[in-house]
Amino acid sequence: MKTFKCYDCESSFQAETREMILSILYEHYMKNHHSVISNASDEEKKQWMQQFEKDWQTAEEV
Ligand SMILES: [Zn+2]
Repeated sequence: MKTFKCYDCESSFQAETREMILSILYEHYMKNHHSVISNASDEEKKQWMQQFEKDWQTAEEV
C-alpha cells in the first residue's frame, strides 16, 4: 500500500496498485478538479502521466 497526494489540493489517497490509484485519482479529479482535466492539453496530460509514474514509484509505503 502506498500513499499518494493530490497535485491540486491537500487530499491524499492510498492504494495497492498503480491501476487502483489511477482510478481513484481520476474520480477525484472528475469530482474536485474537473477544470484541470478539461483544460489540459494533450501535452499537459502526457506530462502529468510522466510526473505521476515517477512519483508513484517513489511514493511512501504505508
Ligand atoms: Zn485534489
